[in-house]
Amino acid sequence: MKKFLFVLILIIAWGFFSVFPSHDALRISNYALTEAQPISEIAAGPKILVLNYHQVNDSATSLAVPVADFDSQMAYLVDSGYIAITPDALLSALEGELELPPKPMLITFDDGYTDNYENAFPILQKYGLRATIFIIPAFVGKPGYMTWDELKEMEENGITMQSHTLNHIALEELPDDGLRVELLNSKRMLEEKLGHAVDFVAYPTGTYNLHIAAIAKEVGYKGAFTIKYGNVDLGSNLFALERVPIFHTATTMKDFYERIEYRQNFEEFGWIKK
Ligand SMILES: [Zn+2]
Repeated sequence: MKKFLFVLILIIAWGFFSVFPSHDALRISNYALTEAQPISEIAAGPKILVLNYHQVNDSATSLAVPVADFDSQMAYLVDSGYIAITPDALLSALEGELELPPKPMLITFDDGYTDNYENAFPILQKYGLRATIFIIPAFVGKPGYMTWDELKEMEENGITMQSHTLNHIALEELPDDGLRVELLNSKRMLEEKLGHAVDFVAYPTGTYNLHIAAIAKEVGYKGAFTIKYGNVDLGSNLFALERVPIFHTATTMKDFYERIEYRQNFEEFGWIKK
């Protein structure tokens, strides 16, 4: 009788645990839910994550992501299946001429700091990642900024240089001829020094308006990046492309994960754009 009761309890227990899924099974089904494409995403086409960095070093400023954190962030992106693409590929995709991989991203840096060459470049190479750096031609070779030789060496290894205007002046304060000098002369100087077309600009400090965007288009750019927080998709304005800025904070890694993973939720709830 005791033996029979014991077997009965075993059978009931087995039934109970097979009806209620294990913690792991729950976690996997939640994961599948967050990975599913929401309807709004399908309508807007692929979401392209454009990360925006400035410095990669261990100083205390908010512009500087610590070297070890930058390494961890690149490892996380690779492990999560993100594929680094070029601005040209992004443009072709937005124009419907190119199908992107499932998790496309652009890794971008602004200003052209020396630590991009010294600290970020070896890490990007370690993970085989492409990146794009927006350069201020008048600052190249000055203390704290990369030299033309360094820029060329990086370009030979998958890092694309584009424009961040000639002198990094706040564009909204400039008259039209000043705007043209900043936008066009930087493009020409970079093209001459680096020997390739420079089709993209990142607005200094991210500030822009429709008039500035119109002049960027007029002088020959094909696209322009802002620091408007969000992902690029088919609804994006080619001359006001969204980026996700990554800064050094008290909790850099936690903030990084949140900015990357929760971005779609922010957008769906209408907190960022639309
Ligand atoms: Zn800048």
